[in-house]
Amino acid sequence: MNQAARLDRKFVWHPFTQMRDWLRRQPIVIVGGRGAVLRNARGREFLDANASIWTNLHGHNHPRINAAVRRQLEKIAHSSALGLANEPASWLAQKLVKAANAIDDSAGKSARQSKIVNRKLEKVFFSDDGSTALEVALKLAYEFTRRTRGGSSRPRFLSLEGAYHGDTIGAVALGHIDLFHQRFQGLLFHTDAVMSPYCYRCPFNRAQPERDDARNYRQCHWECVGKVEQKFAAQKKTGNPCAAFVFEPLIQGAAGMIPQPRGWLGRVSEIARAHGALLIADEVMTGFGRTGVPGFQTPSSSPQELKSLFACHKENVQPDFLCLAKGLTGGYLPMAATLTTRSVFDAFLGRYDEFKSFFHGHSYTGNQLGAAAALANLDILSSERSICARQTLEENLRDELQTLWPLPNVGDVRQVGLVAGIELVKNWRTREPFDLRERAGLRVCEAMARRGVLTRPVGNVLVLMPPYCTTPAQLKKMVAAARESIAATFGIRAR
Ligand SMILES: *Cc1c(COP(=O)(O)O)cnc(C)c1O
Repeated sequence: MNQAARLDRKFVWHPFTQMRDWLRRQPIVIVGGRGAVLRNARGREFLDANASIWTNLHGHNHPRINAAVRRQLEKIAHSSALGLANEPASWLAQKLVKAANAIDDSAGKSARQSKIVNRKLEKVFFSDDGSTALEVALKLAYEFTRRTRGGSSRPRFLSLEGAYHGDTIGAVALGHIDLFHQRFQGLLFHTDAVMSPYCYRCPFNRAQPERDDARNYRQCHWECVGKVEQKFAAQKKTGNPCAAFVFEPLIQGAAGMIPQPRGWLGRVSEIARAHGALLIADEVMTGFGRTGVPGFQTPSSSPQELKSLFACHKENVQPDFLCLAKGLTGGYLPMAATLTTRSVFDAFLGRYDEFKSFFHGHSYTGNQLGAAAALANLDILSSERSICARQTLEENLRDELQTLWPLPNVGDVRQVGLVAGIELVKNWRTREPFDLRERAGLRVCEAMARRGVLTRPVGNVLVLMPPYCTTPAQLKKMVAAARESIAATFGIRAR
């Protein structure tokens, strides 16, 4: 066995992994990568079909990001953000603010829309990971609410069923995946949950299964939106109205790649606003163009929308907190950012002896190497070439995914931009799910790995999240591996 593999088995504890299963196998040891390709210690190549757990945007070993990190490395790798400023973090903050306000109150928008978008994100708080970006938003929203509503209030948070916002304790409290979160109950503060729009398994969807994304043939009366309204109204009656609404815009990732039907986000945001709640958008997965090039497939979109890199903006929603991580550095380095408004920022201003500072921070806050990578990432994202490539990739993904429908174990195929979820079921006609113990998703992914394509499932949902540089041939191979692996795993011939 390769030496790194040996040492790994001896010393390393892997995340979200049953280590007993891990120790029975030879791990794949990655030693290199270029573009959408990863290479292991034996020289075998694999396609990185989940963009290294949803982080990588432009591929591995990208010459421009490499150069940016190298240039910064020649100057300095890290100095503290406690008491010191630095160049790349300052530039990055400016660029992020610009990108986060790429929707504006221009003419042509309805009054309803302008009310929503007229909220500028002006300040950036840096941290290290998605979880910490959410912790920052959570603590800021908590303290901001107490300062505006009175110090004795206990602000309540509302998030979506199935939500995943990270693994630190605050982020876990916001989450609602019982399998992960229940066991830590004793450590957590209470948060409220509300129905998320999961059209494929929605109890209010009266449509029989079809061979199409469930959002397209659903038959309902937006009961999911009604539930949100009811939740806010019920909380208001208690005299302690909901302080903040936390959500992943357009698609929930770790919940099972659950996409929202068009219009859901705009509607629930309006409800939340009407009840005076702050909006916390978790764009850790969806940010930086992952949900597609805005305006693409909707030719009527305004030029402002065309520039936006964020999922919220596709429904003209501007949150009070925008949480970014995963793709921020193009998948190079751990760095996160929480953007917020001037009114939140101002609530923390005061004389020194009022002690209104935000008492929170991390050793690597504003790290220079991360910021340099992030700046290069933003540069690449804004290039015409990248925009065109993403449009083409999204189209190709849509076409390739069609080839999965003939498989009877494919229940739903859902795509939002450059994210695809393929829900595996026992029988598509009944939507009967696999028991988690059957490891259906894991088994298919193991079969895909044997075919040279790497990804990880979310329960029974296969995930395809190609890096933006994925070529048509590579994409074809990713989907073919999924198709063949599903067929092989469940003993069915693909038609
Ligand atoms: C991955 C993820 C997180 C947590 O990010 P980490 O970097 O793993 O801490 C939070 N929210 C969403 C939507 C994510 O996908």
